[in-house]
This record gives sequence, structure tokens and C-alpha cells, in this order.
Amino acid sequence: MLSLEKYRARFGIVAVVALALAGAAAALLVLLDARWARIVTAAVSWAAAVGLTVFLVRRARAREHIRRDAITKAEARHRALLEGMPLVTWLRDTGDSKETLYVGPAIAELTGYSASEWREQPDLHEKLLHSDDRDRVVPELERAAGGAPITIDYRLLARDGRATWVREDTATVLDHKGEPLYLQTFLRDIGEWKRAEDRREEVQAAERDAAAESAERQGRLDLLRRAGNDLVASVEMDGALTRVSELVVSDFADWCVVDVVDEGNQLRRVAAARAELTHPNGAHGPSDDPENEVRAVFESGRTRVLPPLGDTSSGQRAEFVGLEARSVICVPLWARKQALGALTFARTQRGPAYSADDVALAEDLAARVALAFDRARLYREVEDRSDAARVLEYVADGVLLLDRNGVVRLWNPAAKAITYIDADQVVGKTATEAIPGWKDAVDTVPVSASPSPGHDEVLIPIETSRGERWIAISGVRFFGGTVYAFRDLTDARQLEEIKADFIATASHELRTPLAAVYGAAQTLLRHDFALDETGRERFVSLIADESERLGRIVNEILLANQLDAGRIDLEREPFDGRDLLERVVEATRMHAPPSVKLTINANGDVPHVAADLDKVRQVLVNLVENAIKYSPDGGTVEVGIGARDDFVQFHVRDEGLGVAPEEQERIFEKFYRADPHMTRGVGGTGLGLYICKELIDRMDGRIWVESNDDKGSTFFFELLTADVLAHQDTAHRRLQSDAHRARLKSGTGSNN
Ligand code: ADP
Repeated sequence: MLSLEKYRARFGIVAVVALALAGAAAALLVLLDARWARIVTAAVSWAAAVGLTVFLVRRARAREHIRRDAITKAEARHRALLEGMPLVTWLRDTGDSKETLYVGPAIAELTGYSASEWREQPDLHEKLLHSDDRDRVVPELERAAGGAPITIDYRLLARDGRATWVREDTATVLDHKGEPLYLQTFLRDIGEWKRAEDRREEVQAAERDAAAESAERQGRLDLLRRAGNDLVASVEMDGALTRVSELVVSDFADWCVVDVVDEGNQLRRVAAARAELTHPNGAHGPSDDPENEVRAVFESGRTRVLPPLGDTSSGQRAEFVGLEARSVICVPLWARKQALGALTFARTQRGPAYSADDVALAEDLAARVALAFDRARLYREVEDRSDAARVLEYVADGVLLLDRNGVVRLWNPAAKAITYIDADQVVGKTATEAIPGWKDAVDTVPVSASPSPGHDEVLIPIETSRGERWIAISGVRFFGGTVYAFRDLTDARQLEEIKADFIATASHELRTPLAAVYGAAQTLLRHDFALDETGRERFVSLIADESERLGRIVNEILLANQLDAGRIDLEREPFDGRDLLERVVEATRMHAPPSVKLTINANGDVPHVAADLDKVRQVLVNLVENAIKYSPDGGTVEVGIGARDDFVQFHVRDEGLGVAPEEQERIFEKFYRADPHMTRGVGGTGLGLYICKELIDRMDGRIWVESNDDKGSTFFFELLTADVLAHQDTAHRRLQSDAHRARLKSGTGSNN
């Protein structure tokens, strides 16, 4: 086949040859004159012209064929290109008819409607628009028809009903003069891309959800951690529980109600925190006391969830703890198998119904609260017990706790002090074997069932390493055994005895002089006439002596009472102790029995003392008279004075009966007499030394006795010098006197 270029070249050559032949034929016709020659020439020219014409026609046909062929090929290529593209090409008339000029066959694949159907139905496209997209798309299409290029995504409803996402690119194609030729639209199936986008959105949403969930989990962990910190930081539970409930309402619940048991195991409300500012409609809110539904959870120990987990009938409101709630969790508080309370969470306004996760969180929180609460209770118990133990340490009464088997479980320090029995000697043993005398006494001890005041006590003797002690004891029975409380009444008992003795002694002491006075007076009355001057004088002086003795006894009793009542005013004046001592000895010598020799030991310089002169005389007289009185067999009584640091020390030494070591303290007690029954025939009230000691104590001095049984005894007392008293303040004096006494005790200051 000829190519177009070759054809053109040949056509040129043919034209040149034709022109040359035509020229030659014309020249021959002019030159030849012979008819045949001219006929031949004309015939040859015509034949040549015919041949040329045939040639030219055939060539022209060949050329047309080639052109058509080329166009057909180009069209086929173009079509193949269009149809091979992943989009639908759609060409429409720009006029009002919108007639489809061309639509790619792929339209059938995209919409289920064939290309011919599209061509036949000009409004098919609009009909297939998805109703949701129509309002958005139609104005855009109109804009495109007006010549504006558009790109828009929308859905087309395919024949089989599915919606296909397409992207439309429409532009108006213009000719070389700028006149609109046709509307060119490309429809691309973007379903896949849309689906991918949807999937991406889904993935993003899932990521967002996961992030939110992890944030929520984190929030919950934070809540647990913060609640835990609050609970651990305090043993004051009410405050901690209130703080926890406030933490919870910030995002887990609109209300958080906390109920716990009190000391008496009664449920009580400690906190009701809420997130809302106002009460929800119609609801009255939790009351001050736990409601029955909370008690039920507390008693059953089972969590209650409203609406129940898995219940999908949403929107139902539940009535709980006085709240109209969307959702409620009520969790019991348990620790060491003990019900301790309940936690109630309620959502009244915000958030969805509680899920299994929420219940787990609530239970976790409840476990922590219960643990902390239990710990605080234990702590309190331990504190209470240690308080009780401390009280028992310091209480003055002896406390003895026996378990149900009679074994001693507690023996407090006072019990030891009273009985001189160490705790480790009794605790863990039965009372009968550990406490001497218990076996005989226990049956008489009253044991009551409650520690009511005013219960009976009995006085029983207990044998101790230091002699018999009298204790007043009573017991109270409780579920674990019996607790006994006892007091040492030995001293009180002794005092009672002593008082009884005193009454006996004093009445004897009073009766003897009274009888003498009475007898003498009677004698004087009856025998006055028969008595001479001497006889009368003897009776009168007897009456005077005995009356004086009576007066002294009465005075002693009165003075002792005044001392007891604190009604004694003491002077403080400086005086010469030696002078006083000499005068007392002088006066005593007048009536001392001849068997007793009174001496004075007063060598060296003795400073003045500052004290109540009369009272010091009274003390000295008392000691000297006692020395004489308790020297029934006579002997020397030495009365002395000397300086001892800041003190002036007096002493009265005798060779009489002496004072046993165990009585050296006691003889200064009120009414105490070493020999109350006067086996040695020496009478007295037991008040003299008591009065001496009280007076000396009040003058900041000290009195004591030292004795050696068979060599009599020496009574000492000492008083501050006037100088010291004048220059030193009281506190200093005390310090010094204490130091001085300490020295005396250690023996360095004694004149013996
Ligand atoms: P009374 O009136 O019995 O003498 P006191 O209080 O003066 O009372 O003395 C108390 C007890 O101290 C006396 O009963 C006596 O047993 C004992 N007592 C006092 N002075 C002496 C002494 N110098 N020698 C021995 N015993 C004494």
C-alpha cells in the first residue's frame, strides 16, 4: 500500500508527465497536417488522457481509503483509550436537550444501566442521584451546565439498589473559536476510596475510643490511688471517708454515700457527697441514717447494681437511698470476714448505666476503704487497750484478772505494791496457788455481774512477805472471767485499831487524874476538919497536879485537832536555842524522879534559830518528858544542842526502853503507841510525838529518832539558823536542807 507521502510524490510526477504529454500532443497537432497523423495524435492524446484520468481516479480512491482507514484506527485507539480508562466518559450536548453524545460502556458497570439506556433517557442521571445528596448536587450540576468546571462527590443508586459513590469532574469543551462544543464529564467510582476513608475514620474513631478508654482507666487508677492515699494517710476515718466520697463524685458518680458501723456495730452514715448543685427533680436525697436497701446490702454482703448488669431496658430510673437514679451500685464493705459498712454510688444525671467495669472499680474501692477502716478500728482498739493498760499501771487499786479457769491474766503494779507479790510470780498461774490466803478468802468475796457502783466489798487478810495486809476486795464477772479490784486497808484498819486503843488509853489517862482529883476533893470535903495544914496542902496540890495533867491531855487533843485542820499559826523569831534548852531542863528537874539524871550537852558556838519559841519549847518539853517517862528504871537524860551547817540541831538522849527499828517511823503517827496496852506501865495518848513532828515540819525542820534497843534512844530535831532564814529564799533553803538531810542520812552529819 502507498503511503500518503509516496502518493503525493507520484501524483506530482504524473501531473508533470501529463502536462508534458499534453504539450507534445498540442505541438504535434500544430505541426502535423496530415489528417491521419492528426487523427492518430488526437487518438493517442485522448487515450493518454483517459489513461491518466483512470489513473488519477484510482489514485484518489486509494487516498480516500487510506484516510478513512487512518481515522478508523485513530477512533478505535481513542475509544479503546476512553474505555480502558477507570472512569466513565460522558459527553453531552451543551444545549437544553442535554442529549448524550457519548457515554462509555463502563457506565453499565457503574450503575447497572447500559450506555444506550443513558443515551435514551436524558434525565436518568438526575433520577439516580441519592436522595441525601440531591439537594447538594443539583445546583452544582446547573453550575456546570452554565460552563463552570465542577468536581463533586455523590452517590448514585445503581439498578440493583446499591449506592455507589462517584466523583464527577465536568467541564465544557470549547472549539477553536471558543464556542461550547459539548459537556465533558468523567465519572469515577470512588466507592473503594470512600470505603477506605470510612475505614480510616472507623480506625480513627476506634483509636479515639481506645484513647478515651485508656484515659478512663487511667482516671480510675488515679481515683483508686488518690483514695488509697487519703485512706492510708489518716486514722481519723470520718474525715478520710468524706474526702474519698468527694473524690468519687468528681467523675465516677453524681452521689457517693458512705455508711460504716460504729462502736456498737450499728450502721451510721458518715458521708453523702454529691456532684450536683441542686437536688434532682422530685428526689429528696439520702437521709441522715442508712436506708433499708443499704442495710440489706450491708447484711447480705452482696453488691447490688441498678439496673442489673446486662439489662438493656435503658431509661428506667431506679429509686435508691432517696434518689431517682439512672444507675446505682451499692457495695458492702468487708474486712476480716466482718461487715463494716456499705458504699453507694449513684448516677442521677450524667453518664451511662454502670457497667461491669464500674462495678469492679466500686468493689476495688470498697475493699480499700474496708481495709483502711478496719485498720483504723484496730488502731483505735490498740490505743484504747494501751490507754486501759496505762490506767491500770497508775490506778491506786490493785487489779486482778482471772480467766475462766481461775488463771491470773493481769496483775497491776498497785496489786504488787499492796501484796509484795511480783506480776511474774502470779501471771499465768492459778490464783489459788499464787496468792497466799486466796483459797480461803475467795468464797467470801462478792462477785457481781455488772460493775455497778456501790457494790459490796469484803475485808480479807492476805499473807504477804511483810506481814498480814488487810484488803477490801470485790469482783465483777464478765464473759472472759472475773476481774477483782482491791484496796489496801491495812493502815485504815490499823488506824481504826489505834483509835480504839486511843479511846481506851485516853479514857484511862483521863480517868486516872479525874479519879485522883475526885478522891482528893471528896477527902477534903469530908475530912477537912480532921486534916492539918500539911494534909490539906497535899490534897490541894494533888488536885492542882492532876488537873494540870488533865489540862495537858485535853490540850494535846485540841492541838492535834488544830494541826489536822491546819489552824495553827506559827511565829518566826530568832532566839537562843541554848538558853531555851537550859530553862526547859531547869524546869523539868523540879519534878523529875530522883532515878533520872538530867544533863546538858551544849558546847561550842550555837547560832540563833528562827522559829516559834513557844512551839519549840513544847517540842523540847515533850521529848524530855518522854525520855523520863520511857526510862522507868531511871538513867541519864542528856539534852543537847549544836550547829550543823545551816541548822541548829537539838537532841534528847535517854537510856530507857528504846524504840524498835520498825517503829521508829510509826511512833510519829497520830495515836500510835509502841506499847498500847501499857505492859511497861507507861501511859500516854500517842499524840505527843505526832504533835512534835507536825510542828517541826511546819517550821521547815526535821525530827527523827535513833535508837539502840538496850541503850535507850535519841530524839533529834533541827531548825534553820536565823541567818540563813534571813538571807536565803525559801526554794534555796529547801535545796540546802535536802542536801543536808541527804548527808545526814549517809551518816556524815550525825553527831553520834
Ligand atoms: P505517848 O503519849 O504514848 O507518850 P508519844 O507520841 O509521845 O505518845 O509517843 C509515842 C510512842 O513512842 C510512845 O507510846 C512510846 O512507845 C514511844 N516513845 C516515845 N518516846 C520514847 C522514848 N524516849 N523511849 C522509848 N519509847 C518512846
